[in-house]
Amino acid sequence: MRRADAGTMMSPLPPRVFNFSAGPAALPEEVLLEARENLWSIDATGIGILEHSHRGPVFDRILHETEAGCRRLADIPNEYAVLFMAGGMTMQFTLAPMNFLTGDETVDVLHTDVWTEKAVTEAKRFGKVHLAYDGSATNFDHVPAAHEITPSGRARYAWCCSNNTIYGTQYAAPPVMETPLFTDASSDIFSRPLDVRAHAAIMASAQKNLGPAGLSLVIIRRDWLERTNADLPGMLDYRAHARAGSRLNTPPTFGVYMLGLLVKWLSAQGGLRAIAERNQRKAALVYAALDRRAGFYRPHARVESRSLMNIVFRTPNAALDAAFAEKARAEGLDGLRGHRALGGLRASIYNAMPPAGCEALASFIDEFARTHG
Ligand SMILES: *Cc1c(COP(=O)(O)O)cnc(C)c1O
Repeated sequence: MRRADAGTMMSPLPPRVFNFSAGPAALPEEVLLEARENLWSIDATGIGILEHSHRGPVFDRILHETEAGCRRLADIPNEYAVLFMAGGMTMQFTLAPMNFLTGDETVDVLHTDVWTEKAVTEAKRFGKVHLAYDGSATNFDHVPAAHEITPSGRARYAWCCSNNTIYGTQYAAPPVMETPLFTDASSDIFSRPLDVRAHAAIMASAQKNLGPAGLSLVIIRRDWLERTNADLPGMLDYRAHARAGSRLNTPPTFGVYMLGLLVKWLSAQGGLRAIAERNQRKAALVYAALDRRAGFYRPHARVESRSLMNIVFRTPNAALDAAFAEKARAEGLDGLRGHRALGGLRASIYNAMPPAGCEALASFIDEFARTHG
């Protein structure tokens, strides 16, 4: 029996602003609108996506389509497992060393951000850490060139962060290490083509480029799954998650669903090459506006390490930084205050930020310097 159609009571949608938040971050409006419908009822089942069993046919379809969509979009080879896990990237900081290091084994870390610091703290609980690069000496204003990297020569694996969300730096290509590479790609995954084979594992929390907070995407070589440490609790063991097809327990079903929509949206935009070009153009608009007023604005990252995702900069002083963020907000440009670790300003322009948002920000940057410079 069908119940009365309360769906006709859906209210009209209020206006939105350009959201430059570092994360949770803006999502594509087409995706939000589709999710809105499916919250009410998905696949004409009369049951919303949040309410479906994680072992029923609707979620079966979603899980398989999401995995297949990720594989197609990012060209993920069959030797890699794709896992959907809970706990965000911070859980992965713990799980990676817990699964793959033992007391006297070493991980080589390229230390480039607050996020690699957190990975170091967790890795030290399970093994030894060698900083193959330490960016703190230059306040993390760049990612290392090959000649700045000094491997230990005895590492089980290496760890890096492909895009440094807080300092606004990004590798142009994965760093070349002599040991298998694990990458935290939380803030730039699926923003450009992904060189999966250059990695043993790529992991990302979802709330920057993939959907809602709480979900993580883990792409890991299957041969590594056969080498996890013995006697780990099930929920903390990658191999157990892989064997259960990411359904060891109730997975973050809504997150997986949203990631599936995002992947579909990215494919419709033309795939990762097209998205990368679009992201290049968007970032170039904002950096060019900052560079035109170079006496007023100071971007944090060195030019060759500039992130296409997080643009970190300052005005001449903290009071002007605050005025910038406040005035921008009044003009519909939200979320521009910098991270508490660094201060200043930060514009996060992930995949979902439309070019129009970057154009509006570039004009605002120009206007603010003209009126306050
Ligand atoms: C946001 C972020 C994290 C933290 O993710 P959580 O989901 O909060 O655990 C880790 N690494 C990078 C690079 C990030 O941008």
